[in-house]
Amino acid sequence: MEFDGRREVQKTLALIKPEAVAKGYEDAIMERIIDEGFTIVRWDKMHLSQEKVQLFYREHEGKSFFPTLIEYITSGPLIVLVLAKHNAVQAWRDLIGPTDVEMAKISFPRSLRALYGTSKTYNACHGSSDPEAARREVKFFYPNINTDPILTNSEANQYIRENLEQYLVDGLTKLAKEKPINPVDWLAHWILDNNPNRPRIEIEE
Ligand code: AMP
Repeated sequence: MEFDGRREVQKTLALIKPEAVAKGYEDAIMERIIDEGFTIVRWDKMHLSQEKVQLFYREHEGKSFFPTLIEYITSGPLIVLVLAKHNAVQAWRDLIGPTDVEMAKISFPRSLRALYGTSKTYNACHGSSDPEAARREVKFFYPNINTDPILTNSEANQYIRENLEQYLVDGLTKLAKEKPINPVDWLAHWILDNNPNRPRIEIEE
């Protein structure tokens, strides 16, 4: 199924690569991410092994820049981020700019690669190339994150409003009052116990 990123909130994978982290650009880049309207769903600082990076960039195996790329990405800690926004995959690619930093500086001087990169390989940031790659790359680092786009069109909103909204508000209100230790378990049980669609057997006294 093909998703329309303009109508659904997508997730994409971003990396702030080791040279940008080593130069102390991570805070400025994260601030820019927020300013541009992305939600940071998850982020972690990681120092990746050679095996992991080879697997991540396996599509480039055999290319002339592959050994340099692997050496570079394993050279120090980087930041892995899962970003969410309408049309996130393309929006993040637009924000980072072209792979070639020289081209980015000429054509997109406010892009992250123009501002923080130094060359074609040392280009500060990574972004998934398309929605399919985004799903694969998010799962590569975070197998448990749901990569399905969040529907935000009016039909989906109306369905949720009519069928679930009041009911979930009740459950969430009770949850907030009780503050259980495991809120997810508590809510799951509450939903099952209070399912308005479950037939009820009335027992007459
Ligand atoms: P991509 O999968 O297109 O994001 O490419 C992965 C990374 O490989 C890029 O972000 C660059 O760091 C590097 N790279 C891609 N193409 C080249 C190239 N022609 N020369 C040098 N490095 C490259």
